[in-house]
Amino acid sequence: MAEKETASAKKTEKTEDKSQTQKKDAGTTNASMPEQATEETGEKSILDRVAETLGCDADKKKIAGNAGLMAKVMSSFKGDELKEALDFLYDSVTDTDTMMEMIWVRFGVPVIDNRASTWKKLDSKTQQILNKNSKKLTPEKWTAKGLIEVYSAYIHLPQGNLDLITCLMRNKSTEASGCAYGTTSGTTGIYEINYRSGTEKDEEKFGFGVRHNDWVTDRRVGTKLLSMTAAHELGHVVDGAAGWKYSKKGSSMWNVSKWEETNNDATTVVDKMIASIKGDPYGKNMTDDERKLARKVGIRFLKHDQTTDWAKAKKYIESDLTAELKASGKKLNSTQQADLLKRMSGTGSSSLLHHLWYGQAANQSWYRHDEVMKGMSKPFHQGYDGDPWYTYDNSRWHDKISAYQYRNPKEEFAETYASYHAAPTIGKKKGENTPADLLAWFLGEGLGDKEAEEGTSNEKEVKENK
Ligand SMILES: [Zn+2]
Repeated sequence: MAEKETASAKKTEKTEDKSQTQKKDAGTTNASMPEQATEETGEKSILDRVAETLGCDADKKKIAGNAGLMAKVMSSFKGDELKEALDFLYDSVTDTDTMMEMIWVRFGVPVIDNRASTWKKLDSKTQQILNKNSKKLTPEKWTAKGLIEVYSAYIHLPQGNLDLITCLMRNKSTEASGCAYGTTSGTTGIYEINYRSGTEKDEEKFGFGVRHNDWVTDRRVGTKLLSMTAAHELGHVVDGAAGWKYSKKGSSMWNVSKWEETNNDATTVVDKMIASIKGDPYGKNMTDDERKLARKVGIRFLKHDQTTDWAKAKKYIESDLTAELKASGKKLNSTQQADLLKRMSGTGSSSLLHHLWYGQAANQSWYRHDEVMKGMSKPFHQGYDGDPWYTYDNSRWHDKISAYQYRNPKEEFAETYASYHAAPTIGKKKGENTPADLLAWFLGEGLGDKEAEEGTSNEKEVKENK
């Protein structure tokens, strides 16, 4: 094909060009060297090259907005030239299928939706897993804009990590969430993300939500939700592929936030909860007998139902308490009983039962630090439904990536991974958006990207030194 020859002939030429430009930059580097100009020149030459090869106008929006031309770009260029062309054009692409194909061609990541044709790229093992779990894993249609956000994150992620992905899909949930699908021993490489945060119904706005942040001081505030989620879930995939070595109990990461784990055994959890509550965990004016009763009911409550709302939980506690009183032969009049119930199951910060309910993952899946910490001397909550309970060094709260980071160590790793690798999506250098001690740990594990950390900072440093 004539076009291909042109492209490959130009390839050598352009590669040389680029290295010359770089040398020239290095030779003349000074504080006033305008970075912008270099970038523009680079972009212009990419655009010219694409237009020339395609035989069309050098108009980025026109090329990117035309599915036929974009298909031609993907078939005409190879290697670094293909990467450069796609990385230059992607943010103006308007066709969803084109974006799906671009992510496949550029990163080797199969993106699927509910059409069988999109599943052809999946390996047979992945197809089997998806078919087996078709009730859980139900892919939705993407939009080009959503995939542009994913692409913008992938550009900054290590290709070796992206290679672990066996399937990317968009899930049906209306929440701002994602999921790396796996088992306790590792992940499958299948992962799903969703870019609609609860109240954002306007498709134009998705991907930019900040509702995942509980605190305005979080380092994650101002990040692009979808890009962060794309990186966060990949963090789980990376961790899972390594047998959870980064986040599992006793890993060196645990020392940073001083994680401690308690098995999900109801009696142990209740006693630990009592020890973590500031002051009296039983509310005011309770007798010793009543305290024992409250502990007993608390243990049974944890064993009973882990998927309930507070109103239901309260009902359960009340009926269990009533039965317990009856069995004990205690005679309380209805006013006394109502008062006792109120003290035991009220929403006050000193109520043991309320703390147990708020600490339970089934009820607070996103770790509500503000509620969990009310009246507590230290954090104590469950990671996931059925999982262990955790505490960590609460003094770390002043400088964190996100509240979600402290759901459990797995999430801390994923948030660290995302804050590091997705920092460039909000114009920061890698490492700049990660707390110093976690960053030091992350780099110590060899998970960093030295070039990306230093790459864009040289010029700034020169300026500052002056
Ligand atoms: Zn996660």
